Amino acid sequence: DAALVWLRRDLRLDDHAALHHALRSAKKVWCAFIFDTTILDALPRADRRVEFIHHGIVELDGLLRAHGSGLIVRHGDPLQEIPAIAGALGVQAVHINRDYEPAAVARDAQVRGALAHAGIALHSHKDQVIFETDEILTMAGSPFSVFTPYKNAWLKKLDGYYLRAYPVQRHIGALAPVPAALDRGVPTLNDLDFLPTDMAARLHPGASGGATLLLDFLERIDRYADTRDFPAIKGPSYLSVHLRFGTVSIRQLARLAHERMVGGSRGAEVWLSELIWRDFYHQILHHHPRVVTHCYKPEYEALRWEHGKHAEQLFAAWCEGRTGYPIIDAAMLQLNRTGYMHNRLRMVVASFLTKDLGIDWRRGEAYFALQLNDYDLAANNGGWQWAASTGCDAQPYFRIFNPISQSLRFDAEGRFIRRYLPQLADLSRAAIHAPWQAKPLELQAAGVKLGRDYPMPVVEHAEARELTLARFAAVKGAA
Ligand code: FAD
Repeated sequence: DAALVWLRRDLRLDDHAALHHALRSAKKVWCAFIFDTTILDALPRADRRVEFIHHGIVELDGLLRAHGSGLIVRHGDPLQEIPAIAGALGVQAVHINRDYEPAAVARDAQVRGALAHAGIALHSHKDQVIFETDEILTMAGSPFSVFTPYKNAWLKKLDGYYLRAYPVQRHIGALAPVPAALDRGVPTLNDLDFLPTDMAARLHPGASGGATLLLDFLERIDRYADTRDFPAIKGPSYLSVHLRFGTVSIRQLARLAHERMVGGSRGAEVWLSELIWRDFYHQILHHHPRVVTHCYKPEYEALRWEHGKHAEQLFAAWCEGRTGYPIIDAAMLQLNRTGYMHNRLRMVVASFLTKDLGIDWRRGEAYFALQLNDYDLAANNGGWQWAASTGCDAQPYFRIFNPISQSLRFDAEGRFIRRYLPQLADLSRAAIHAPWQAKPLELQAAGVKLGRDYPMPVVEHAEARELTLARFAAVKGAA
């Protein structure tokens, strides 16, 4: 009659499936979080995401203590720690919210086995998405690989049941005091061997931060369809990092968006569609875990990406924002400095890496995985394979973004570029998108010497475009 809730990417206490079910079914409930050494050891010593999680854990511990309980926190391997805590507490069941990443699925299966050994059940719940795994299938019973029909089926199936919150308040009294022998408090960031970052200055951490961002976004949601593509303006919600760590509930977001959509808000309709993309990529990863390392479309495995010293130099220029294309460089500097990149720019820089520089999407994906605060395997892999044309329902390979036209369309005044590349600030709006095409006099007047203040372009777009068409044609021809 006692249960343990093992928190992972669901760092909140309200509308929480695992906690709801544990509280309803057991008389005594505890919550635990493990700083997983397998994950943490692979990260750089200063990582905003670790600090974001740490902040969320401190907040949760405080809330649980206010309820007379507390969070049991460990730094180690969940395979050992969870059965040890569950055994020491004498619980009959451990509750988790399902995680769909292949590594997490494998870990959870191992933990389930270890718990079973001790006669403890592991109950898993859907919490992270609205529809999971096999809940949305085609008429023929197979998974969707194209977004629009998936979205239509998703919207058709949606009803109040799927949007309903999992309340925790009613049975909150079941939260039990943590036995002194198990209560070690929350380790400091230093204990975890991590250095502080600028996280708190950049993000609004914790469930409280997620709630603040949501309120702010609801003021703007009706304009989302018109503003979301322009990186210089505050169009999107900035909630991705909260969705990643579960400091907001996807049901709450989808419910609010759906209500407003039904009320006639075009912005809410488009935003809900983005949340559906999130579910879509999660189910792709579930049904096709090979996409983690392989192209969704197998024929593209034969693509011959650029290799060697020159390709490495180009890759470094892309990572460091030195390609000579201002929109690309400003976007990469945004990523490197803040850990965020606007969605439009993610598409543009991913296209540039794969189609202008001819570099394997897996390199870019891995770089994003390291840098993004909101890094999520399903969405990141989906986004990269979309841009590289290797994915399901991807951009066709012959549709190659022109970085200059994208810049003109989505940052017409160059406001975003000027923010990250102050050395180009005095260029006119006509010159800022492609400085090497500007008249020497204009460059001189703006105090810009190409090669000194800002690089010449590392590739010529028209030429690169031809190379990419040939790269794909070679594979198509062979098929
Ligand atoms: P909003 O515009 O407010 O969107 C709301 C939410 O919808 C997002 O928080 C996100 O959860 C979801 N969403 C929006 N667009 C997508 C999408 N295309 N696919 C899946 N979910 C989406 N998103 C991540 O969360 N993590 C990633 O690692 C990630 N990597 C990406 C890589 C590439 C190459 C591309 C093209 C896109 C990637 N995205 C990723 C999707 C998208 O760019 C971000 O979700 C979005 O920019 C986050 O900002 P926001 O919360 O302000 O978005």
